[in-house]
Amino acid sequence: MKTYSIVLLKGDGIGPEIVEQAVKVLKKAGEKYDFSIDFKEALLGGSAIDATGSPLPQATIDACKAADSTLLGAVGGPKWDTLPGNQRPEKGLLGIREALGLFANLRPAVIFPELKEASPLRADIIGDKLDIMVVRELTGGIYFGERGRKTVDGQEAAYDTEMYSVPEIERIARVAFDMARKRGKRLCSVDKANVLESSRLWRATVARIGAEEYPDVEITNMYVDNCAMQLVRNPGQFDVIVTSNIFGDILSDEASMISGSIGMLASASLSAGKAGLYEPIHGSAPDIAGTGKANPLATILSGAMMLKYSLDQPEASEAIEKAVSKVLKVARTPDIYVEGLRKVSCDEMGDLVCEALE
Ligand code: NAD
Repeated sequence: MKTYSIVLLKGDGIGPEIVEQAVKVLKKAGEKYDFSIDFKEALLGGSAIDATGSPLPQATIDACKAADSTLLGAVGGPKWDTLPGNQRPEKGLLGIREALGLFANLRPAVIFPELKEASPLRADIIGDKLDIMVVRELTGGIYFGERGRKTVDGQEAAYDTEMYSVPEIERIARVAFDMARKRGKRLCSVDKANVLESSRLWRATVARIGAEEYPDVEITNMYVDNCAMQLVRNPGQFDVIVTSNIFGDILSDEASMISGSIGMLASASLSAGKAGLYEPIHGSAPDIAGTGKANPLATILSGAMMLKYSLDQPEASEAIEKAVSKVLKVARTPDIYVEGLRKVSCDEMGDLVCEALE
């Protein structure tokens, strides 16, 4: 039987409660699909500050590097809000992404048919199905480029620089093309090539990689401003979107909000190897921590993504997605509750998904 090693970074607030549910579901999936997982815990964020003085202890980096993958809850909370910027829990989050060389961020925007009414878009705009994958470059571009202040015409000015090298574009393009190949074979590359030189290099490089290595995947190009409109006008036209760090930051939030509920949204960040960091997109929700009201489904679905993209267990991954869909028909946590269904706690939701696993 295959055994995987997974590091759990439970973090703060609702982090421990939601990660516990994902662990239950992953264990159950292992029983059904004949694999086992060796879970190890490590500290990140506020809990790490309290225990060690650092939001990202070296032991956590070492543990994550040695594991097959990492599952993260969420970090942060009012207790640590007054600390200086570089000592805050969120610094640990940026630090672990950097330490693991995570350059590709995958953000699925999926609407479960059961939750169609939670979307801010009209049902006729959503159509029968919405399943978009946004692939965002995570370690380059303007967030990491040269920046500074200078004096222009005697006035203070500030600048940030968008820069991408060909190898940086090639590797994110390959992640996106591979993804498109496994899905609907359609890739939309989003840029601002009508204005930005970095976008012109981006567009040409994506086109070349597509022509040379992925002739079976259809490529379209879209300017970022048009993409922002198209996502709310006709989201069903998209399969996989690939874009730069800053454009992806904005578009992935827009795309995910179409699905209507923050407690449902999973994400993955991948490095050059197979290992990745999997986490819900929401924060530590200190307002509901410890009340049993947290929705664990985003974390459970992050676990499902881990099975698909890092552990080569696509069947178990799909079984978890199906189990979530099944449970949503009968039970909901308070954030997505609708009259007539069973209102359940975080823990009960985890149990129900385990029971529904086939
Ligand atoms: P948040 O995502 O934690 O919460 C926003 C709202 O959504 C809250 O009302 C919360 O109760 C609700 N919510 C979030 N997740 C939920 C879930 N699973 N089930 C039910 N309801 C849920 O964002 P925030 O309030 O802006 O931030 C709180 C803390 O989290 C801050 O310290 C922030 O820095 C941190 N944060 C961490 C991450 C991360 O770890 N990746 C991301 C965002 C924010």
